[in-house]
Amino acid sequence: MSEDAYASIREEVAKLCAEFPGEYWRAKDRDRAYPGEFVDALTKAGYLAALIPEEYGGVGLPLSGAAAILEEIQRQGCNGGACHAQMYIMGTLLRHGSELQKQTYLPKIASGELRLQAFGVTEPTSGTDTLSLKTVARREGDRYIINGQKIWTSRAEHSDLMLLLARTTPQDQVAKRTDGLSTILVDMRAAKQGGMTIRPIETMMNHSTTEVFFDNVEVPVENLIGVEGQGFRYILSGMNAERALIAAECIGDAKWFIDKASAYAKERVLFGRPIGQNQGVQFPIARAYAQMKAAELMVHDALRKYEAGENAGAEANMAKMLAAEASWAAGEACIQTHGGFGFAAEYDIERKFRETRLYQVAPISTNMILSYVAEHVLGLPRSY
Ligand SMILES: Cc1cc2nc3c(=O)[nH]c(=O)nc-3n(C[C@H](O)[C@H](O)[C@H](O)COP(=O)(O)OP(=O)(O)OC[C@H]3O[C@@H](n4cnc5c(N)ncnc54)[C@H](O)[C@@H]3O)c2cc1C
Repeated sequence: MSEDAYASIREEVAKLCAEFPGEYWRAKDRDRAYPGEFVDALTKAGYLAALIPEEYGGVGLPLSGAAAILEEIQRQGCNGGACHAQMYIMGTLLRHGSELQKQTYLPKIASGELRLQAFGVTEPTSGTDTLSLKTVARREGDRYIINGQKIWTSRAEHSDLMLLLARTTPQDQVAKRTDGLSTILVDMRAAKQGGMTIRPIETMMNHSTTEVFFDNVEVPVENLIGVEGQGFRYILSGMNAERALIAAECIGDAKWFIDKASAYAKERVLFGRPIGQNQGVQFPIARAYAQMKAAELMVHDALRKYEAGENAGAEANMAKMLAAEASWAAGEACIQTHGGFGFAAEYDIERKFRETRLYQVAPISTNMILSYVAEHVLGLPRSY
């Protein structure tokens, strides 16, 4: 993949982002409000349908095209966290859904008529230990009856559909420990009238994340995606795409911080010279740049392997970890270069700093990635 294969898409995305400057994001951040206008503009321009095949009304780009879009959004100072999941959640439906499900939902998701922004996997008691999740979907005739609780279900208040992972066979009755979980498409508009409650969680950045409670919520069995009991595998197969895309976002953040820090270091004059003339100011920015470039290569490697149909597990995980660390290092350098002004909201640095920190924890935390590399790449003994 050549580095500027998506140069014209990046240019168009940058133009769209210019309509949503720092003031827009600061106001949303201050009010903890959803950037609906930005999401609508991205939807209208077709960017959130980047990965939906043309036959279902999308753009049909490969994963690297979606990565270029998300990287550019972050690089321009905007926040793709408001809608990035719409790009990849539908992958489960696309790969494992029936033809009828694809025809029913994908064109409407592509046009923006239906929003598939909510991904209900994490639960308060089981956390990263997904196989221990407790939300149950019990089959009764032609319905599933869902009971349980999800946490950190981002954008639930701004989504029409949720991709839910729930237990359909008790853990002590499955042949393999990865069996017994199922993916179900929940129509949240109906569910809110029938036992689903959404409670927003206040967080350090504006991310519209929530807790979702299911109290005997009924969902028709035709909303099951793929085969009952195989849901964990379906979710896992989408995770490499998700990690590569989040990694691309972190690269965009790192570039934004580095550009901002370099520009300020050149223009801020103290003791009769630009602060950027001091190596103590230059070096952290240069180091962050080197770190970002190395992580970017890993992101490209993950995208290349994914698009070649190879197992990109190690590369996607390492790309996510390295890119999240690179964006954090760039954020550090940017704040330090700006001195006190780095803390002033109007510079947008402290906002981006808070936003980019998330990606060392979500969608998967650093320890879990290191554990994957230790076990699956280096052959070290399994620790959990
Ligand atoms: C703002 C935000 C948005 C999110 N959005 C979504 C969403 O839309 N949908 C969704 O399903 N989830 C979402 N998440 C959840 C996110 O994926 C999890 O927070 C993340 O995977 C970590 O899980 P946890 O918070 O339960 O931490 P825990 O699993 O409780 O882990 C806590 C800490 O212990 C470490 N740890 C745990 N076990 C081990 C071990 N065996 N060895 C070493 N270290 C270990 C972890 O690495 C972590 O640092 C979101 C989270 C946040 C904060």
